[in-house]
Amino acid sequence: MAAQQLSEAGHKVAITEAMPSPGRKFLMAGKTGLNLTKNEAADVFLNQFDTPIQLRPMLDAFGPTEVSNFALRHGQDIFTGSTGRVFPKKMKASPLLRAWVEHLSTLGVTFLKRCRWSGPLNTNHVHNFKTQEGTVQISAPVMVLALGGSSWSKLGSDGAWSALFAEAGISITPFTAANVGMRIAWSEHMVPHFGQPLKNIRLSVAKKMSRGECVITSTGVEGGAIYALGRELRQAAHAELDLAPQIETGLLYDMFALRNPKQSLGNFLRKYVKLDAAKRALFFELTQPAPQTPDQMVKAVKKSQLPLLGTQPIDEAISTGGGVSWKNISPELMLNEYPGIFCAGEMLDWEAPTGGYLITACMATGHWAGTAAARYASAKVFL
Ligand SMILES: Cc1cc2nc3c(=O)[nH]c(=O)nc-3n(C[C@H](O)[C@H](O)[C@H](O)COP(=O)(O)OP(=O)(O)OC[C@H]3O[C@@H](n4cnc5c(N)ncnc54)[C@H](O)[C@@H]3O)c2cc1C
Repeated sequence: MAAQQLSEAGHKVAITEAMPSPGRKFLMAGKTGLNLTKNEAADVFLNQFDTPIQLRPMLDAFGPTEVSNFALRHGQDIFTGSTGRVFPKKMKASPLLRAWVEHLSTLGVTFLKRCRWSGPLNTNHVHNFKTQEGTVQISAPVMVLALGGSSWSKLGSDGAWSALFAEAGISITPFTAANVGMRIAWSEHMVPHFGQPLKNIRLSVAKKMSRGECVITSTGVEGGAIYALGRELRQAAHAELDLAPQIETGLLYDMFALRNPKQSLGNFLRKYVKLDAAKRALFFELTQPAPQTPDQMVKAVKKSQLPLLGTQPIDEAISTGGGVSWKNISPELMLNEYPGIFCAGEMLDWEAPTGGYLITACMATGHWAGTAAARYASAKVFL
């Protein structure tokens, strides 16, 4: 996105990519349906980020509408799901990435693959890159770094750049796993339900609440309802789980009070509370010994405690929080101590849940940094 802005402003641009091909994480994002952005009121969208003040100008300039138009301009029909999430009709990322790379090539942007920026950060506008032929130097009045966060390292975003920043005296907020599954030590009793979805649940932690879906895995739970609780959940030892948010507590109490004791509790939960097998298993897993009174049963449905052992490993996270601290960059996203070097994307210190917020913010900051870098390059005379 930054390369496009620079190129359209008339500058000669090279994209250097450490991997054999660009956009590998973007392609991975398309594996389960590329959620490009979300159609919702601007303030609601912005408040999903932990740093709305810093990101506001960038998302005002290039937000959900612009991301959707961008996909359309590159020949990708899009659709909006019932929750407002926007996807390309083909769901995949590869057709969009292909069209985008072609467009950049038409603009004259050069792609240098297996070409890793190797630092150090400097102010002399000559930068080192490791290639298969050894280290090469590229002279450039401006450089936009968009090196990603620190997860799915096999796709290129290994966070190794943070050591180069630290050496250059730029403080980095430590990376944290965001949009990541939580670990739970399940008993044997849960094994048949590994891989099963938990649909329509409500989770609460601290003062945050999410309603939606997650999946039971062999080592815990993962999915949208988990990711939406962000940092609060990651720091908690328990989350409160409501297995039937559609049933009001008073009504549920009456249902249990009127239950015929001859009917097994499992059957009652299936038939009247409409808990499927996975939810029934959780009901018994999380409340031991099995509840006896209507009060205890209501609590086991509406307020059981999910015991959390922390996040899954950071490399498995969909995104990472932490990165280049805002205090080290100007409002144009240029490093204060290294004029001419800009940063964009997930390497900046922000986080948001899944739902199209991540790609939108990456594109918005890339667009912003590229526009500012073009202005900077045009205004300076480099000898
Ligand atoms: C499984 C999965 C599903 C996802 N689904 C979605 C989704 O549906 N919607 C959504 O909004 N987001 C999604 N995301 C998140 C989204 O893909 C990322 O937030 C986004 O790709 C980050 O973009 P970026 O350009 O900042 O960094 P990246 O995409 O990580 O790109 C950074 C690039 O920099 C290269 N690089 C690193 N160091 C160097 C160096 N020193 N020199 C040269 N090159 C270097 C890397 O090889 C990499 O290609 C998903 C992520 C995953 C893992």
